[in-house]
Amino acid sequence: MKSVLITGILGQDGAYLAKFLLKKGYRVFGVYRRLSTPNFWRLHYLDIFNKIELIPADILDSASLSTALKKSQPKEVYNLAAQSFVGVSFDQPLYTSEATGLGTMRILDEIKKFDNKIKFYQASSSEMFGNEKSIKKNEDTQFHPASPYAIAKVFAHHTTNFYKESYGMFCTSGILFNHESPIRGLEFVTRKVTNGIAKISLGIEKTLHLGNLSAVRDWGYAPEYVEGMYLMMKQKRPDNFVLGTDESHSIKELVAEACKIGGVSVKSIISSKENFRINDVKHLQGDYKKARKQLGWKPKTKFKKLIKIMVEEDISRWERWGKREIFPWDAFTSGEDSAFNKKS
Ligand code: NDP
Ligand code: GDP
Repeated sequence: MKSVLITGILGQDGAYLAKFLLKKGYRVFGVYRRLSTPNFWRLHYLDIFNKIELIPADILDSASLSTALKKSQPKEVYNLAAQSFVGVSFDQPLYTSEATGLGTMRILDEIKKFDNKIKFYQASSSEMFGNEKSIKKNEDTQFHPASPYAIAKVFAHHTTNFYKESYGMFCTSGILFNHESPIRGLEFVTRKVTNGIAKISLGIEKTLHLGNLSAVRDWGYAPEYVEGMYLMMKQKRPDNFVLGTDESHSIKELVAEACKIGGVSVKSIISSKENFRINDVKHLQGDYKKARKQLGWKPKTKFKKLIKIMVEEDISRWERWGKREIFPWDAFTSGEDSAFNKKS
């Protein structure tokens, strides 16, 4: 049985990818960093916790990555671990560079020493394009990063190309536009909106405070994007691919759609200046023609359906919570969630 190693397995994409690769018959190992409180909820939510093998390691610690490679003996490594939140990267630029940027070089260098035939996938990001002027971005669009996160991802992207070109390694980068799901982190705008609107619709909260509502993003559905990662690794030759939906919507449209589904007035959603970023990417839209042609990949779940899936799941979770059910979930244990404090 072929082994695969995933860094960042406890995150949204790591969990979906692990589930997908298990179905494909892989033996799945995952790198996770030790925390005082274990963060395994997504693996339980997808019912794969007992099917994967977890190795404690840190993308900041080369020795631990070397041990993870020895323990898992992988044929493929998917590098998804990162400080992945743009907002926090303004407050923690150096940590973000260490984890999101240098982390990629650390693991690539360990792979080169251990077995340079291992295939490598890097989680590159549409944020690398930043405020570059063109409407639609593809693999040839210039990078113009607008945050410490994006700068770190550009570094990691070039590093991945460098190991491919200089050491002949199979290194591929997926330049993924925003992709979301009911297991997206609560700080990202889609989930913040769907969780917030779920609470307002059930009378748990009255308002939700957001930041810049005019920013525009290309949002797809995460389980479909991990399939794209896999297809990139199955190519004869390593290459880089954009995955997106080629559609774009503003945060304002996201709010309007989520409010409609949740039966909530848009007046409950407040845009507060203190939530604005120092520098924000105005518009992202991904031209995924190359992926469609070469990988046969295309997005199936578009904006409205995606928001419906997320709002309905968050409403259902808060309803179950109201009935004192116990199930794998993040929102009610989040210290920032005022509903927990009020009701507990
Ligand atoms: P998440 O934030 O959900 O997952 C990132 C994972 O990385 C988490 O499990 C986190 O661990 C782990 N991690 C963070 N720091 C370290 C560290 N020092 N050592 C080991 N592990 C660490 O992100 P997503 O799943 O959404 O994204 C996966 C990757 O794809 C990320 O690299 C992200 O930047 C990139 N990406 C995501 C996009 C998206 O729209 N989702 C778009 C484009 C790129 P813990 O659980 O302990 O916090
Ligand atoms: P990003 O594209 O990786 O930065 O994903 P996010 O989901 O964090 O943010 C998407 C866009 O939503 C950015 O332009 C943010 O400025 C905007 N936004 C507006 N209000 C909020 C908010 O309250 N939280 C977050 N995370 N983003 C917000």
